[in-house]
Amino acid sequence: MGAVRLVMLGPPGAGKGTQAANFAKAHQVPKISTGDILREAVQAGTPLGRQARAVMESGRLVGDDLVIGIVGERLERGDAANGFVLDGFPRTIPQAQALDTMIDGHAPLVIVDIEVPEDALVERLSGRRVCGACGWTAPPGLTACARCGGTLVQRRDDNPEIVRERLRVYARNTLPLVEFYRRRPAFRSVDGDQPEDAVAADIAAAVASVIGGER
Ligand SMILES: [Zn+2]
Repeated sequence: MGAVRLVMLGPPGAGKGTQAANFAKAHQVPKISTGDILREAVQAGTPLGRQARAVMESGRLVGDDLVIGIVGERLERGDAANGFVLDGFPRTIPQAQALDTMIDGHAPLVIVDIEVPEDALVERLSGRRVCGACGWTAPPGLTACARCGGTLVQRRDDNPEIVRERLRVYARNTLPLVEFYRRRPAFRSVDGDQPEDAVAADIAAAVASVIGGER
């Protein structure tokens, strides 16, 4: 398979981060998560990182221009030359347009949207337990933390009502972006309501169906 430039979309609880990490590892490309690279830029004290720190310290959200700048810096690093998996970017249409400009002339951008029905997401997220002592996320069925033996608790924002509200907010914010991408030939929707391995296999097949067609 040639260079893979992949954008992963999906609601909270769809397993997007895990799938992005596994795909990146299997294809030996970096997984670029906006949260991670924002933190890195802030820590490294780059000019954009210093701007981002100032915005975050004032309690505001980091705007499109700054996020675009930081992702752009990251994509210029050598390890992204042969592809990447983006997780958490783009979030808005201006960010998506900027991404198109950044990769202009390179391999096609593949967009994979992991779809999971709302009820399944609510069940997953509201069934989630984390360790009250160390923060570890426990798989279903455990009664104590496998790392430290601590008591498992439910995060406050994992209760069903708050989960439904988070999903509504996600849908409202992301729908325009999904519509922006949906008409493209490199857009694929994957059924996320299956075991993790099956979702991973579907993602790999979806990407291959786009990249394969390029050859
Ligand atoms: Zn623990």
